[in-house]
Amino acid sequence: MKIWVIIGLGKIFLKNIEKIWKMNKIQKLIIHHTAVSHRLIPDQFDMVNDYHKQKWGMKSSLGYFGGYNYIISADGSIKQYRADGEETVATTGHNFNTIHVAICGDFTKERPSLAQFIALRVLINNKMREYTIDPDQIRTHRQFKNTSCPGNNITDLEIRQLFAPDMSYIQQMIFKIQTTLNSMKLKLKGRKEEH
Ligand SMILES: [Zn+2]
Repeated sequence: MKIWVIIGLGKIFLKNIEKIWKMNKIQKLIIHHTAVSHRLIPDQFDMVNDYHKQKWGMKSSLGYFGGYNYIISADGSIKQYRADGEETVATTGHNFNTIHVAICGDFTKERPSLAQFIALRVLINNKMREYTIDPDQIRTHRQFKNTSCPGNNITDLEIRQLFAPDMSYIQQMIFKIQTTLNSMKLKLKGRKEEH
């Protein structure tokens, strides 16, 4: 009986270690659109969930099938399919270290709503801070694949203007530079003393 308890606990332990390890690997955030008009369907959470359930059937730890981590409805509400750091089904080759955000709408024909822009801005800035994501790593799907996703009515420049450079990232870079300079100084000092 006891051995099963130990195996059970071991499994839980390993699962959490795996989770933490994967979480620490978040390096990017990629933006998508759903390619379905948000004027016709403002909240597409269930629609995408059903579609991805049929297409891939990959259930998340949160119990959903949507391939992205987050989806933003026309009214700016943010809903979640997958935990941060969990495997996604969104961009080939970028499904383990990336947070994927889908905006409801077809931005080959329409524009995101103001509420969506505001929500996206909040989400990007929060995730950049939370995982120290490099500002260069806030990307769009079309930068990785031959697709217009998230649609040509939303430009990469426009997305870049949504976030300020993350200060914690800059501070980290300054710290790295200082550490490197200090170690260089120490090496130089060492050399002087040798001769
Ligand atoms: Zn996409």
